Amino acid sequence: MRAAVLVRGGEPLAVRELDDPVPGPGQLHLSVRACGVCRTDLHLRDREIETTRLPVVLGHQIVGISDDGRRLGVPWLGWTDGECVYCRTGRENLCPAARFTGRDIDGGFAEQTVADERFCFELPAAMSDEDVAPLLCGGLIGYRALTLAGDGVRLGLYGFGSAAHMICQVAVFQGRRVFAFTRPGDEVGQAFARSVGAEWAGGSLETPPEPLDAAIIFASDGALVPVALRALAPGGTVVCAGIHMSDIPGFPYADLWEERTIRSVANLTRRDGEEFLALAAQVPVRTTVTLYPLERAEEALADLRAGRFEGSAVVLPSQPAPETAIS
Ligand SMILES: [Zn+2]
Ligand SMILES: [Zn+2]
Repeated sequence: MRAAVLVRGGEPLAVRELDDPVPGPGQLHLSVRACGVCRTDLHLRDREIETTRLPVVLGHQIVGISDDGRRLGVPWLGWTDGECVYCRTGRENLCPAARFTGRDIDGGFAEQTVADERFCFELPAAMSDEDVAPLLCGGLIGYRALTLAGDGVRLGLYGFGSAAHMICQVAVFQGRRVFAFTRPGDEVGQAFARSVGAEWAGGSLETPPEPLDAAIIFASDGALVPVALRALAPGGTVVCAGIHMSDIPGFPYADLWEERTIRSVANLTRRDGEEFLALAAQVPVRTTVTLYPLERAEEALADLRAGRFEGSAVVLPSQPAPETAIS
């Protein structure tokens, strides 16, 4: 099979012929139909987070067809021990032995993959392969972040990319008001945010028209943490939703005072995925995707790094792809 392989961190993905993957105990063999591109893939590619094995096939938002014909989704959480204190208390996202798709297990920038059946999701039937793929990380870890943000109505989203464009729609469906923050001067991104339901959109350093009850930071710039904190009403929460963030600058205690909270979100539980995929079908969440054939997976990462598309990028390993498509 063909796969886009990370041979060494910091170097471009290489398209290579690999042996077809053979499922181990409990695993399914899947023909990959689509695989969403996540900022974590870019962090691994750029060595901002470490890989655990090389070479590795990246990609952890996989839509695949099992050998018995079922369409399934494979997320970042690929395996847990089921025994530790976290697994036994509904927090398998924190399992210290967890193995992650596209890092510890070869992922979906490939024509075929294998995945532990217990960690695969059924997918909303109404959504196409390429439209549903971005839900599998950006969507469901974004949903976990939204849940941990609390019930506040006024929600800020810092970094309006793949996750934010989906979570914005879910938040509006829940009756919240969304304030979107993009790179300063990114008027195209701000118009895109308004088109998916944000009532206000501005640059990340702007003060929103009202204090926020919560803010989710999807961008990897730690300098946004004190900025978002200062935009909060008393009792508000800043949720850092990414796996990697640059250092957070110091700030006066007064900015945290009045029971404001800063917290992170790590990974997902299977329950997050089941809840979110059901909710996404109900909203329904509509994704904006740019499609790349397998040969251009590296270009998809470069475009993500440069902010050259709105919404999500999706790699289509098993079919020739058009240049771009909006749905
Ligand atoms: Zn565990
Ligand atoms: Zn991800």
